[in-house]
Amino acid sequence: MNNQSCSLCTQKEETTIFSNDFCRLISTDDSFNLGVHRLIWNNHMSELSQLTKKNQIYLFDALIQAEKIVVKKYNPHKINVASIGNQVPHLHFHIIPRWITDPWWPYTIWSQIPKLEWNTFSTNVFNLEKMLVSVGDWPNLAKYSESIRKKVFIDDQKIIFSKQLDNYDLISRHALIKSSNIPLATGRMQPCGRLSRIAVIKEFRKKGLEKGILSLLELEAKRKKIKEISVNSEINNCEFYFKNGFSAIGPEFFKCNFIQQKMIKKLYY
Ligand SMILES: [Zn+2]
Ligand SMILES: [Zn+2]
Repeated sequence: MNNQSCSLCTQKEETTIFSNDFCRLISTDDSFNLGVHRLIWNNHMSELSQLTKKNQIYLFDALIQAEKIVVKKYNPHKINVASIGNQVPHLHFHIIPRWITDPWWPYTIWSQIPKLEWNTFSTNVFNLEKMLVSVGDWPNLAKYSESIRKKVFIDDQKIIFSKQLDNYDLISRHALIKSSNIPLATGRMQPCGRLSRIAVIKEFRKKGLEKGILSLLELEAKRKKIKEISVNSEINNCEFYFKNGFSAIGPEFFKCNFIQQKMIKKLYY
């Protein structure tokens, strides 16, 4: 039943999540395909209608099981299940967790990521020439954000982030402020509405850029109809968030070298 020239008929180097006599679920998760899995029918056939009645039921049960596994592990806003197989005509399904903040939303993950738009930015306290802002996705903004994060978190604050433990960048919305192509300020909003990794280059702090990033992310949250945004603020920075409509919730805690406080702001009631 197997086809020598078919890549799905062989099982080399797969991360198998479950497998039985009929089919197998493998993870094709990587930094650009967070949580994406593939359910593969073991026998080589190209169309659903070639399955026996009994096998149709086995396959459907396996699909449901696969979907539940992905939902439990990744907590997405939506699951996409896709069966295409034009290039590999061996019956299989892509199980794709989706978030309203991911780069492709609301289109499929095979669609083009929208081009970044840059707008001019000025604050009443600070007005550097040619300051531009953008809110967008990680693939487009990573190179800017990473250079700011390196300077602020690693060089200045000596915080070691475990990159492997944080998968949020790809599925977050990112805000960026730059001047003459030099990145100055960054921050992100995670799928749950949490703002994190807010960083401003040292020489440009307390000049309105923090407020700029916060406003951009808040606007983006509203655009996405996210009900509430939150942030874990350093204790001596809480005043800034109070002034911008946040309130403190829960006790202070110690994390990443700082005493922190969770702050929340409701956007929709
Ligand atoms: Zn095959
Ligand atoms: Zn496929």
